[in-house]
Amino acid sequence: MSVLKFTPKQFDDFVSTLLKTGRPVMAPQAKNGRFAFGPLASAADLRLDYDVTILPPKKYVLPQVETLLEFEVCGPCRSVQEGEPMILLGVHPYDLAAILQMDELFRQGQYDKHYMDRRCQITIIALDVVTPSANVFASSMGTATVTSGYDILLTVLKDGSILADAATAKGQELIRLAGSAVPASEADLLARKAVWEHNNAVLNKHILLCKPSLLPKVLEQSYNHPVWEEKARLCYSCGSCNQVCPTCYCFDVQDRVNWDLKTGYRFRAWDGCLLENFATVAGNHNFRKDRAARYRHRLYRKGKYVPEKIGGQIACVGCGRCISACTAKIANPVEVYNRLLQDTKLG
Ligand code: SF4
Ligand code: SF4
Repeated sequence: MSVLKFTPKQFDDFVSTLLKTGRPVMAPQAKNGRFAFGPLASAADLRLDYDVTILPPKKYVLPQVETLLEFEVCGPCRSVQEGEPMILLGVHPYDLAAILQMDELFRQGQYDKHYMDRRCQITIIALDVVTPSANVFASSMGTATVTSGYDILLTVLKDGSILADAATAKGQELIRLAGSAVPASEADLLARKAVWEHNNAVLNKHILLCKPSLLPKVLEQSYNHPVWEEKARLCYSCGSCNQVCPTCYCFDVQDRVNWDLKTGYRFRAWDGCLLENFATVAGNHNFRKDRAARYRHRLYRKGKYVPEKIGGQIACVGCGRCISACTAKIANPVEVYNRLLQDTKLG
């Protein structure tokens, strides 16, 4: 199907039609002077011009808390699948890149049926960034734009019109509801290319001084670098940098028995490697008690451990959320990576 072009009014009508499909539409909206993904009630609430959301849309593919199974005490259990068909509208390219990484991680090895079933029911309408956020560095990480992984990609052109490119059967099913939209012209497609070129250059408030692909090598030589201790001295172990990160996917699994003392449920909830008890195991042993070791682990995970599992893709997509969320001002991955780069002389 060709790329369609909407006027702002036609696009509002399209969104209103999506809202009538019966599927919840989760989309970026204003919230206390910032932006957050939430259930969309009206096309007028949608903010295509948002800079960055407080939490990434990851929360819809991997909810903060998710029931995995229900059981009878000393009896049988049954698996719980909580997902439902949903439209995720307005996902920025860097957040989409993070979801695609998670797809790969949850698919490989021990296939995670809970994640994958939920994910398969979600239709993603991505959106090229209109307003760069204060700390974004997606251009440095190669995630300022995307060429695949979405069901539909929206691009707002300079004149305010909106192009919609349906890439999958799920996307085409939705775009059929587009009503009076018209096929985009050659000039429109050139204008879209200009948006991509612009975004690939300007979503770069912090500049990584090497190709992301060099980071595993840099980290390989930096395990005992003084920066871990220096930064960690200021760290509150609050875990905010983990909680806002679109690529952090660690979770804790717990069982709860209900008040009847006969039944219960098992759930998983987001965890964070910066939290003091993240690495506490049976017998109350904490194998990463040291704050500097936890601080180092987060940046090793983004730049070395996860890339080794997913074909070299760096598990930091440059959204900049951790930089804004860290009250101690020490969470900026670019600042640390550039320093290591300089000291290892690999740059
Ligand atoms: S490490 Fe920070 S900048 Fe990188 S993806 Fe996570 S929150 Fe975004
Ligand atoms: S947000 Fe900052 S202070 Fe809090 S755990 Fe992360 S690095 Fe430490």
